Amino acid sequence: MKKMWVWHHPLFLLYILCGLCFSLQFTRVYADSSAGRILNQVDGDHQIHCSRERSRTAWKIIQEYLMPFVEKEKYHIPKRCRFHPDNDIYRDQEQHKFHIDINEWQCGYCKKSFYEEKHLDQHFDNRHSNLLNLNESQCLADVCGALHCDHEVNSGSKKSKCNPAAAARNKHLCESLADSCFPINEGPVASRLHELFLHQFCEAHSCIGSRQPFSRGRRKKTNVFYIFVSILLVILLLLYYLYVYLYQRGMKKETQVLKRISQTGRKKKPS
Ligand SMILES: [Zn+2]
Repeated sequence: MKKMWVWHHPLFLLYILCGLCFSLQFTRVYADSSAGRILNQVDGDHQIHCSRERSRTAWKIIQEYLMPFVEKEKYHIPKRCRFHPDNDIYRDQEQHKFHIDINEWQCGYCKKSFYEEKHLDQHFDNRHSNLLNLNESQCLADVCGALHCDHEVNSGSKKSKCNPAAAARNKHLCESLADSCFPINEGPVASRLHELFLHQFCEAHSCIGSRQPFSRGRRKKTNVFYIFVSILLVILLLLYYLYVYLYQRGMKKETQVLKRISQTGRKKKPS
């Protein structure tokens, strides 16, 4: 019975560890998905009529569905392109936003902490609105129609009815973005990205057929947490096998000593 416990004890620890890791991962995913659906920014009290939330969604879409291809081609997005970081009013504030824990958001300017992202957004509006670069920046939320922000936010929910006029408008905006960000006359790399952009974002702006946006895929996430857990599991497994090996070696030595004792005992008896 004691031997059985010794054999199963490290495995039992592994099970507990795995369970803990996956439950932690689940809470992280849950927190991330809910963060994107926080209320729409109310601009009533401010001079800026640019939705922070939709700008954030547009930025997220660009990072996930466009930048992996741009980075792969080592292409530099020109400043006249609406996707250039300088053309997002909220970029600097968003970069000073730190998600410390599930219920902790910290302001990078004054280190004040908040329970929810929306409260930090309000804090930015109230305390740090002077840091918005309003002279040069444009509203990234304005290109949301072309980038399928609603599709990204409402993914999984019932699809709204297609409006041909809105689809045509969005397609036109989408194609003009492709022209300004990836001008065909600037070489083969820009041409390839121009083509990709049309497939990835513009083709789905149609009420005919069932073309889905982001047909070329998204950024593959390499989860640091998973890598850490995998390394930890490998170390624990190695320790477990080392333990088994040493245990068996110890047992072998013990039986050898016992054998020797019994043999010498037998040899001594006749004398
Ligand atoms: Zn602050």
